[in-house]
Amino acid sequence: MNRLFSQKMSRRKFITGVSTALLGLVIGCRQEQKLSPSPQAPPLQATPAAPLVPHITLLPPAGDAVPDMILHNAKVLTVDARDSIAQAIAIKDSVIQKVGSDQEVLATAGENTQRVDVGGRVITPGLIDAHIHLRAVGLNNVYFMPLIPPEVVDVQSLQKALAELVKKSAPGEWIQGYYMALRDKPIPDRYDLDAVSADNPVFIMQISGHYGVANSAALQLAGVNASTQSPAGGIIEKDKNGEPTGVFFNHVAMDILRKATPPITEEMTRDGILTVQPLMAATGMTSFHDNNIRDLKTIRIYQELAKNGQMYLRSTLYYTLEYQQNLQNLAKIDYYEDALTRFAGYKILIDGSGLTAFCHEKHNGVAWTKTTWEADIYQQTIRALHDSGGQISVHCVGDAAVDLTIDAYEAAMNANPRPDPRHRIEHAVLTTPQATQRIKDLGILIHTNPQFLYIFGSGFIQIFGEHRAERIIPTREWLESGVHLSIGSDAPSCPWYAPCATLAGAMNRMAYTKQVIGSDQALTFMEALRAHTYEAAYAAHEEHLKGSIEPGKYADLAVWQQDPEGMTPGELFNMPPMYMTLVGGKVVHQA
Ligand SMILES: [Zn+2]
Repeated sequence: MNRLFSQKMSRRKFITGVSTALLGLVIGCRQEQKLSPSPQAPPLQATPAAPLVPHITLLPPAGDAVPDMILHNAKVLTVDARDSIAQAIAIKDSVIQKVGSDQEVLATAGENTQRVDVGGRVITPGLIDAHIHLRAVGLNNVYFMPLIPPEVVDVQSLQKALAELVKKSAPGEWIQGYYMALRDKPIPDRYDLDAVSADNPVFIMQISGHYGVANSAALQLAGVNASTQSPAGGIIEKDKNGEPTGVFFNHVAMDILRKATPPITEEMTRDGILTVQPLMAATGMTSFHDNNIRDLKTIRIYQELAKNGQMYLRSTLYYTLEYQQNLQNLAKIDYYEDALTRFAGYKILIDGSGLTAFCHEKHNGVAWTKTTWEADIYQQTIRALHDSGGQISVHCVGDAAVDLTIDAYEAAMNANPRPDPRHRIEHAVLTTPQATQRIKDLGILIHTNPQFLYIFGSGFIQIFGEHRAERIIPTREWLESGVHLSIGSDAPSCPWYAPCATLAGAMNRMAYTKQVIGSDQALTFMEALRAHTYEAAYAAHEEHLKGSIEPGKYADLAVWQQDPEGMTPGELFNMPPMYMTLVGGKVVHQA
């Protein structure tokens, strides 16, 4: 059990081990449908430019300036180009001034320098989660109901938990939550929910966030019935009689249902973010990329929280375009940037979860030929976003999704060569060896999520088959090919947002069923740490500001309770909260 989780999220009594649900075995009827361009498609053209590179540049404080603080008696894993190890760090005005031996650094202390003896502990750069949905973690933590192991493991226990929620709700009140895995029926349907919630509308999302199920009362409120067509890029599942089963795949389909759900208010968003911020700080996280912001309001709220001094973690924000019409919103984005928050670019999802992965060959999920965007419109949108000067990241699970995205990036970059745009591919669960070479040659970055192997690993094997599963998330192949690789949690899609869990996943590649997936692709601790620090900064053009412990970078630091080097992945997974976390030299967490 992850101790961080049990301590910080005990009221949720999180997972003691994922139940044995077979995420891959889905009986849903397949609905392949013709995609057609929206009649209201806006012209796809160059749009206002997000600044590609941060405006802020930092300089190392003058050598003779008296430091504000010195951390000493440490084992400092600097993650510089040579992976140097030091003993002490001097900080001046939120920036690292000097890194070296205790003797060298303490010699610079003045009368007012605060000296902190960390008792021989390890200091690493603050961890940077380059793909997390912090707002969603907050909403799940505060507002949405957890229907997860160990309490909820099958349909019966789901019904029991729902019945209790119904008892506490007023008639007609919405119940919304998230479920993780049911061992007897991976995807519950409307009738499973109806049995205990005839009068309350219910919508529960699978924790990955890519599909969900509504009961009959909710379908009625949303006006979804046998005549409702699946939208382009999504699936409203129907049974053999043509009746909706209550299951919706992909956001565009879930949005049809969500039109009827109570809106998420600004207060809920603010409250969620601020509630989870200290939990993140305790894990050593000092920066995060919210890589899926689906509304402009949330961008504004992040910016306001930073301006009001309520955020102390640094945020890098990506706006998600779910529809081509969202291109019109680019003109409304405030491309604001300060030391704590920065708008960095755009996000598109081109397929869904493993079940709806867009692949070259048939798989055992729900749909394997479906893209969430029509290919031409997608390519034009990538071109328009590229021409805007911003950075683009695209969610790709299947190998065909990855190739389509490489093609789109390559076409945009050839038509309009720009220096170092660093466009990203997110997840890249299934890829081909040829794709690895093209990704390297084009300077595309990969961000992936090793915890997928733990939580979805056995499901991937069932969906893609043993043979293809050998190539799931080939982290060592990417590193050895010279691809820039960053790792992160993708929380709440994976429930463990603590970087230690992600590092452990990259090192052992073990599914909860104890199957090891591609053991030759495992990373060492130092490789994983670099992917979660320096490379995560690189993934947003921010490596000159953070990601390693070097003079002239922000003093964003994690002081570990125990030395992670030489730990087994299991021990790392159970690492206690950090001894101390500093952002810009300010202590934001202390054990
Ligand atoms: Zn994500």
